[in-house]
Amino acid sequence: MYNPKSRKAEEFIDHQEILDSLAYADAHKRDAAVIDAILEKARLRKGLTHREASVLLACELEDKNQEIFALARQIKKDFYGDRIVMFAPLYLSNYCVNGCLYCPYHAKNKHIPRKKLTQEEIRAEVIALQDMGHKRLALEAGEDPVHNPLEYILESIHTIYSIQHKNGAIRRVNVNIAATSVEDYRKLKEAGIGTYILFQETYHKESYEKLHPTGPKSNYAYHTEAHDRAMEGGIDDVGLGVLFGLELYRYEFAGLLMHAEHLEAVFGVGPHTISVPRVCPADDIDPGDFDNGISDDIFAKIVACIRVAVPYTGMIISTRESQAVRERVLGLGVSQISGGSRTSVGGYAEAEPEEESSAQFDVSDHRSLDEIVRWLMELGYVPSFCTACYREGRTGDRFMSLCKAGQIQNCCLPNALMTLKEYLEDYAAPATRAAGEQVIAKQLEYITNPKVKEIVTEHLAQIAQGQRDFRF
Ligand code: SF4
Ligand code: SF4
Repeated sequence: MYNPKSRKAEEFIDHQEILDSLAYADAHKRDAAVIDAILEKARLRKGLTHREASVLLACELEDKNQEIFALARQIKKDFYGDRIVMFAPLYLSNYCVNGCLYCPYHAKNKHIPRKKLTQEEIRAEVIALQDMGHKRLALEAGEDPVHNPLEYILESIHTIYSIQHKNGAIRRVNVNIAATSVEDYRKLKEAGIGTYILFQETYHKESYEKLHPTGPKSNYAYHTEAHDRAMEGGIDDVGLGVLFGLELYRYEFAGLLMHAEHLEAVFGVGPHTISVPRVCPADDIDPGDFDNGISDDIFAKIVACIRVAVPYTGMIISTRESQAVRERVLGLGVSQISGGSRTSVGGYAEAEPEEESSAQFDVSDHRSLDEIVRWLMELGYVPSFCTACYREGRTGDRFMSLCKAGQIQNCCLPNALMTLKEYLEDYAAPATRAAGEQVIAKQLEYITNPKVKEIVTEHLAQIAQGQRDFRF
């Protein structure tokens, strides 16, 4: 029985409720009156239910689809301006005891080299990442209580935060590790993590169990209820995601939004981020083995519908996607992208020979961070290295209430410009720097509060003289 407030996975992600929502969406996919009413509600920018959003995703009326895309673009612009937050993944270890059929780290893959970074190697990786200009990392590790116990993750986080190299610093470490206990989440919180991200992979329980035949991750309920335990452990920024291609995308889309509704219903705070990966090639993995792959057009529509349904939730895309796809979805709702990524264990400090690849997936976008920064600016975006909210204690419901009151934008643009300026001073190629100075000059004009503008102008001058780390 569907109950968004239930703490049981099978009740807040109720299979029948998803089927009913999809049937409702099918029944109304050409119903202009119903679609108009949903769009009218979405224009209030307070979000949509999974059922309403499912109708938009199913919509087959071309003119209404254009309205959906236009609204997604407008909401993106209103909430996120031109800013795109930058991050990089850091793979600590690919030892894993699970049997996920779509991931090359699955325990039965005997030919992928297994690696785990030592603290010294982490130090080298982080310095390489700092030298690229990164300030925000997403830590990744397989699940292996022997090789990657929580103590190892905690020690690694401590190492990362402690490294000060030239003007570099990692200011926010988000963590993407296996579902764990409330007690372990509490320890991660104490270690100072930003967002705890855990992908559901698929919300379809039967498929989930087939795709996860062995290992602790095979427990659907324990995995699906992990964000609740993270919240109980004090981590109030959690990230959701599904791996599109494993199951029918409309099912996953409804499940994803139901999960967001559940977090809102129980904790009063929806997810901080939603990630939208698609199955892609990797060692031992052929995306053709999964017959629910989605086209770029459907992918774009999913992004637009998520943007409209949960305007306050950041949306993340990785270098799995090509430059062209990334360009398309940035305008529709994606607010964070990775750049210059290595998806292998190690690989930033020293490139890995291809035949020894320990990568989790093949990267489509191979450009350097500097090339991506310049490309974003050429497209009219402002690459942001901001990490201010987490460091100012603006997390969880505090963050969301500022978002809902429309006040967070007053911090985002100034912080984006100041962190971009740091990047330009310390890491940018000359052409990027020149383009960036123009972007900053132009965007300064969009700061409407004269006092804030004055402070930002002053800080920009101080950054040029060598000072760092200003924030609102
Ligand atoms: S998806 Fe995660 S848990 Fe599954 S095999 Fe890969 S690393 Fe292990
Ligand atoms: S001010 Fe907060 S919400 Fe805005 S970009 Fe920085 S960290 Fe993100």
